[in-house]
Amino acid sequence: METGNSYIVGRGKNFCRGCTGLDLFSALDLGELPIANELWPNENQPIELFPLHLRICRSCGLGQVEDVVMPSRLFRDYRYLSSTSTSFLEHARNFAEVVSKEMSFGPGDWVLEIASNDGYLLQHFIKLGIDVLGVEPAENVAQIAKLAGVPTVSEFFSLELAQNLRASRGTPKLIVANNVMAHVPDIQNFVAGIAALVGPETRVSIENPSLINFIKQDQFDTIYHEHYSYLTANSVDKITKEAGLQLFKVEEIVTHGGSNRYWLRQRSRSSSNEQNVVEKIIQEVEDGLFDESVWRQFDVRIQKLILNFYNWVKSSYEAGQIICGYGAPAKASTLINASGIEKDWIKVIADASPEKQGRYMPSHGIPIVSPKALFDIKPNDVIIFPWNITKELSEIIKSQALAPTRVWTAIPKLEQVN
Ligand SMILES: [Zn+2]
Repeated sequence: METGNSYIVGRGKNFCRGCTGLDLFSALDLGELPIANELWPNENQPIELFPLHLRICRSCGLGQVEDVVMPSRLFRDYRYLSSTSTSFLEHARNFAEVVSKEMSFGPGDWVLEIASNDGYLLQHFIKLGIDVLGVEPAENVAQIAKLAGVPTVSEFFSLELAQNLRASRGTPKLIVANNVMAHVPDIQNFVAGIAALVGPETRVSIENPSLINFIKQDQFDTIYHEHYSYLTANSVDKITKEAGLQLFKVEEIVTHGGSNRYWLRQRSRSSSNEQNVVEKIIQEVEDGLFDESVWRQFDVRIQKLILNFYNWVKSSYEAGQIICGYGAPAKASTLINASGIEKDWIKVIADASPEKQGRYMPSHGIPIVSPKALFDIKPNDVIIFPWNITKELSEIIKSQALAPTRVWTAIPKLEQVN
C-alpha cells in the first residue's frame, strides 16, 4: 500500500476554499481511503490511499476535505451515469417540465448545464423545443451525451470557459449545476464563472446534498475525495454574495437522500435576503452546523456505525452466509473501505451500469457484476449501498431473486429492509 501524496495539491487544514476564512474545525477523520469512483479494470492493482478528513469553516459553514487530490487524478475515468437510476431520471424530467413552464422560454433562450453527464436532464429541455448546451469534463460520458443528440462541450467549467461562452452565445436564461459544486477544488473560480454568465433575466439552480444531512441522517458515506466541498445555505449565501450573486430561494428536495436546491440571480444594490433564505440559514445554525460538540457526537456515532457494519459482515461471512452488495456508487467504497472489511467477505457487487460491470471495487478488488450474475449466486444477504434509492432497488431484488434473500441498508443504521 502506498499513500498517493504526490497527487495532493493543496492542504486545507486552516484555509477555507469557499470564503478564505482561517478557522476550521475537524468534523470527521476517516483515515486513508482509495479514490471512491476509481473502479479497477482487473482484480489486482496497486492500492493507492489518500487522506480523507472533513473540516468545517467556522466563518461560512462550508464543509471541505482537508487534502485536495488533483482533479486530473480523480476524474480521469469517471463511471457515474445519471441515466442508470430511474428515479433520478424522473426527477430530471419533472424539473425540466416545471421550470420551463414557470420561466416561459422564448426564441433565443437557452439552458446551460454544468456537469451535464450523459444528457439525462438536457434531453428533456430539447424535447420541449429549448436550446441547450452541456458542459461535461469526462470525455467518455460527454461522448454518450453527444451521441444522444445533446450538444456538449467536454471541458472543466471555469471562469475562462464562462467568459468564452458569454462572448460567443450571450447569457443563458437558465443555468443548472446539479451535484457538481462539491466536485470543484477551486469553488471561487467556479462561482465567478457562473456570475460571468448571469444576465438580468438569468436564474441559476444548484442542487447538492446538504451538509446538515450528516448531522441529521449520518450520511457520512457521501464523504469522498471527489467531493471537495459540502454545501449549506450559509456557505452558498456567503460565497455567491462575494461574486455578485444573490441566493433568493432554498428548496428542499428528495434527491440523493435529501438535497437543497439553491436559486440564484444577479444581485442588485438593494438586494436583501428573502425570508425563506433567512429562515434556512438560521435553521442550519440551530441544527448545530457551527457547533463543534454536535460534530463530535456525529463522529462518535459514525465510528460506532462503521464498527457495527464490520462486525455484522464478519459474523455473517463466518456463519457461511453469502453476502453481496447491490449498487456500486462512490458511497459504497467509502463504507467498505472505512470499515476495513476483509477480501471475500462481500462476494460481488451488482450494478445496472454496463460501465461498471466487469470492474473491481478497491481496495480488495470486489468484482462488480450484472444484476443477473448476482442473482445466479443466490446470496443470503444483499446490502443496498445507494440508500437514496433503496425502495427502487429493493423491489428489483425481491422480484428477481432466485432464492430467499434478506435485503439490507447500512446508512443511517444497519437495517433489514425486506
Ligand atoms: Zn468559509
